[in-house]
Amino acid sequence: MKLNDSSIDNSFRRKARSGVEESQLGDLCELISAANLTPIADRHIWSLENSGEFSVASIRKVIDEKRFPGINSLTRWVKSVPIKVNIIAWKIKIDALPTRFNISRRGIEIDSIACPICNGGVESTSHLFFQCSLVRQIARKISSWWNVDHADVTTYEEWRTWMVSLRIQANLKAVFEGVFYGLWWSIWTFRNKLLFEKEAPTQASIFDNIVSFSFYWCKFRCKASFKWNDWLKNPYLVVVIAVITPTDQHSDTSSHDIESGPLFFNQPSTFSSKSTSAVSGRVADE
Ligand SMILES: [Zn+2]
Repeated sequence: MKLNDSSIDNSFRRKARSGVEESQLGDLCELISAANLTPIADRHIWSLENSGEFSVASIRKVIDEKRFPGINSLTRWVKSVPIKVNIIAWKIKIDALPTRFNISRRGIEIDSIACPICNGGVESTSHLFFQCSLVRQIARKISSWWNVDHADVTTYEEWRTWMVSLRIQANLKAVFEGVFYGLWWSIWTFRNKLLFEKEAPTQASIFDNIVSFSFYWCKFRCKASFKWNDWLKNPYLVVVIAVITPTDQHSDTSSHDIESGPLFFNQPSTFSSKSTSAVSGRVADE
């Protein structure tokens, strides 16, 4: 195109004919007249930002909107449990864990999509964490331990609705929610051991372990100290005493301790089979 020429006509090999050609030429002239060309080199403009400059935040927003169209609620973060446990809960919420169903849905061939725990259903997120006989049994025990009206939920959304409906003070509810996160983390760990380790893990100790490690998580992440027996008999009392604010100093410690396990495995006096059966016994009575 001859930019220095007075008329765009001279950029073409021949003059435009009348009719359609002439009207198209008119439209083209109108478009070009609005453009203001300055003598600088061509450059890229990032249309997602008003400034035209690229930013990671702008592209992340677009990707998130496309990938998670149904998720507009905030991520729920419970301070009384470690980050790794919160992450499992978050992945359950957005259905991002590699369950057998999710793996097969992505076109990867696997031997079976059945739940490895009960063999009675497809291993989807909803089945593994809400519908499976094992998780239901333990969830019922947790409700009984916390003395709340239990509801047999089948999905994360139903679980959330139930949690919201419970009349518990906010601080307490956060800890109670954290106990459920602990349950899900235990189920995922148990399932992975079942699938990938030579020796089969035991189901019987899952509930007792949840009571135990949630005690240590909470204890080390709360400013006030409380006793194992209080936690076992009346967790409400414990949380009223404690302020649910994690201290940086302790949060790492508790995470480390649970990873390596010495804290509760080496404390037979506080975590004895006798004290645990007090909870189990109460559950059995009801
Ligand atoms: Zn199952």
